Amino acid sequence: MRYAILSDIHANLDAFEAVIESLRDDSVDRYLCLGDIVGYGARPRECLDLIQSISYRTVAGNHDFAALGKIEIDSFNTYARQATIWTRESLSESDRAYLESLPLVEHLEGFSIVHGTLYSPELFDYVQTSYDAYLSMCEMPGEVCFFGHSHVPITFIRQRFITYSLAGEIDVERGTSVLVNVGSVGQPRDNNPQAAYALFDTDRRKTWSRRVH
Ligand code: ZN
Repeated sequence: MRYAILSDIHANLDAFEAVIESLRDDSVDRYLCLGDIVGYGARPRECLDLIQSISYRTVAGNHDFAALGKIEIDSFNTYARQATIWTRESLSESDRAYLESLPLVEHLEGFSIVHGTLYSPELFDYVQTSYDAYLSMCEMPGEVCFFGHSHVPITFIRQRFITYSLAGEIDVERGTSVLVNVGSVGQPRDNNPQAAYALFDTDRRKTWSRRVH
């Protein structure tokens, strides 16, 4: 099974469509979405429609919860706060119902998906250090977990120790734990403006970190 895993679209329809277009020849079996479909960008409703039409499983991000009024936005920066207020007014009842239906974590065939951390997904903590990665790895039922939230693509790998990799291609070796931040479709924050996402081939046991050129 070949999965395309998208996160942090943030209502950026142009970037979202460019990602879908870049995957045209990749024989993707299923799309997954790691949340923050809305917030910041100007096309929340179109992005919600598109993700609902293609995604096999989607989990909620903090901006999705903020758009529903489920979390406080006092800690958001000015742009995020204003975008949230605008997004709240823009969404329809059915948009809201869809966001309400999203779980925080999904466990699939040997891997998991979450927006922030597996140890307390409802807090939307960031995984930035090896220790943060370790805490999520302790909660992984399988060998692989995909997450987002920081908008920075990076893969943490636990063998004897936990290391990280910025490589585009990672082999999932047996007995290891692999925690993959897929980066952001709509608002990359790693000084590379190209939309980011990941591919995962469960038969070949490989993940790829991709940018849209
Ligand atoms: Zn985000």
